[in-house]
Amino acid sequence: MIIVMERNATKDDIQKVVQLLKEHDFKVLEHTGEIYTVINALGDKTALSAERVGSLAGVKEVKTIREPFRLASRDRKNEDTVVSFNNGVKIGGDNKPVFMVGPCSVDENFDGLLEVAYAAKDAGCEFLRGGAFKPRTSPYDFQGLEEDALKMMAKAREKTGLLLVTEVMDAQDLPMISDYVDLVQIGARNMQNFKLLKAIGKSNKPVLLKRGPSATIKEFLLAAEHILYNGNENVILCERGIRTFDDSYTRNTLDLSAIPIIKKLSHLPIIVDPSHATGQRYLIEPMSKAALISGANGLMIEVHYNPEIALSDGKQSLSTAMFKDMISRLMKLRNLIKYDNNTLSTDVE
Ligand code: PEP
Ligand code: MN
Repeated sequence: MIIVMERNATKDDIQKVVQLLKEHDFKVLEHTGEIYTVINALGDKTALSAERVGSLAGVKEVKTIREPFRLASRDRKNEDTVVSFNNGVKIGGDNKPVFMVGPCSVDENFDGLLEVAYAAKDAGCEFLRGGAFKPRTSPYDFQGLEEDALKMMAKAREKTGLLLVTEVMDAQDLPMISDYVDLVQIGARNMQNFKLLKAIGKSNKPVLLKRGPSATIKEFLLAAEHILYNGNENVILCERGIRTFDDSYTRNTLDLSAIPIIKKLSHLPIIVDPSHATGQRYLIEPMSKAALISGANGLMIEVHYNPEIALSDGKQSLSTAMFKDMISRLMKLRNLIKYDNNTLSTDVE
């Protein structure tokens, strides 16, 4: 770390910082300029945190060189993480982007769910998404059919062979949900639910971690770090829009730049959810295309057999017909895209 001392820091202040660093086996180099003293310290930050050094008297600023998300960082592992599923589907690296499709909430109409699932399957998508436990802003809104929804999803998997993804809100439900689905989602609102991150980290279930609505990229990667730290390497990230100041035309602001930034910083795969990012049906296709071109390892798109009666997020959900129309173009794009070591191939450049 690099420690900049305040201009009025005393010799004693500087001495205390140096002493603390040396006590923790840091190699210390002190530079005294005309106004500021700067201390370069090389050592193990798990033994002495930058935060602790920053709290000492006379310290102006502490800059760390290594990223705080050690396990998620490319410094630890340069090759891309690839998360594999038992039917051979792989997410991450140079594998083709995957598509996750389905209703925001699963409702009682199983045939409706099946209609969407078959449309997804026929188009060549890999996953059926469906909400069973719903994190709703209002307690008066539909909260999800819970295990009944999972049973319906499992039946849809039997018929179509699609993989399943659903959200877990409570660590207690994790074993039950894990029995039903192939990929467990941690929703945006729970990105910093550290107990939940820890619980999923202790399993080896593939996990889809969504970016919190107000999370910085660093906080997002540190949330993933909790899962990795507890032993689960099967982490897939999901950019789903962040809250900015414009709520007139979009629900959130899709941060497309997060894709190449995260790919530069981390080996973890990242997919994009244009449905929650925009809240608008007509924006799903352009944002999906932009996400694919930006290097996303997949897309998650809300599709409902009849969005007008959907129990949640009908406004942003595509009908089955709209989906069928759009997916043919997305599939064409997916087939054109090739990544080689994270670089888009010249076919589409
Ligand atoms: C969802 O995918 O069903 C969902 C609630 O998304 P988010 O957590 O991104 O809001
Ligand atoms: Mn939704």
